[in-house]
Amino acid sequence: MSISHILLRVVVLAGVSFGLVVLPRVSSAQNQDFSKVEIKVSKVSGNIYMLQGAGGNIAASVGEDGIVIVDDQFAPLADKIQSALKGIGVTDKPVRFVINTHYHGDHTGGNVPFANSGSTVIAQDNVRKRLASGGTAGNGGSIKMEAKPADKAALPIITFEHDVTVHLNGEDIRALHFPAGHTDGDAIIFFPKNNVVHMGDDFVRYGFPFIDVASGGTVQGMIAAMEKVQTQVPADVKVIPGHGALSNLDDVRSYVKMLKETMAVVQKALDEHKTLEQMKQEKLLDPWKKWSGDFINTDQFLETIYNSLTGNKGAFVKHN
Ligand SMILES: [Zn+2]
Repeated sequence: MSISHILLRVVVLAGVSFGLVVLPRVSSAQNQDFSKVEIKVSKVSGNIYMLQGAGGNIAASVGEDGIVIVDDQFAPLADKIQSALKGIGVTDKPVRFVINTHYHGDHTGGNVPFANSGSTVIAQDNVRKRLASGGTAGNGGSIKMEAKPADKAALPIITFEHDVTVHLNGEDIRALHFPAGHTDGDAIIFFPKNNVVHMGDDFVRYGFPFIDVASGGTVQGMIAAMEKVQTQVPADVKVIPGHGALSNLDDVRSYVKMLKETMAVVQKALDEHKTLEQMKQEKLLDPWKKWSGDFINTDQFLETIYNSLTGNKGAFVKHN
């Protein structure tokens, strides 16, 4: 989920059950004016490109065999994404495969138009399950969003439990499942020939990350994923985050350091039998407040860690 995708729903749901939450910007997939969105293409390395518009970053392998993309933002942007890919000028061949990093709508919203134009969508088993069922996303606390069951055409045709490899454009593009990080269905995508990795939302640049505890995410799993990836890639790998600017392993390391330090102070407070309210009153995460963002603020990240460590996925109220 991205900032823009989530804010309206947070406001609406918070207004229902948690009192008014003041947020700086209100927009959502439903009311966002996608006509204003431009797709920016950056060359990452070799034949790998990054596309940014609205929603999650897209990685694209563009070459003689055609195109493979990782994530597809929102449905209304599909035509613009297609023409941006053509504009690279390397191939007229189609997008043959779309790999989803996870089920959230700002990464899978384009599945229907891409599938309708002939692409095959690939994702981890849990992505298909969660798209098919719909349900609640959230941090187990003040952030909650309802997702409707997706159209059949949005469902990945090929799913995998642990990993899958797409052999195209002279590269073994590998999607590997990392359980219980941002969600329970996260895949991180490796482009080994070009020395690029797409992290999905296990690594983001908007500050404290959103961890979808309600969909099986945990801060512990996110840390484990990021630490494991660091052992599997060269030191100079180019890192495409789920959201934000192209990054490197130093950026990943400072992010993981923050995750580990904040988790440790919450664990210590839990060991001292403090309640979530006490932790909030003591401003436990104040030393890391530079990570507080428009999307996930310090209190919301404290809730996220608390709920990750205690296994509380939230007592969900059914809305409408
Ligand atoms: Zn997400």
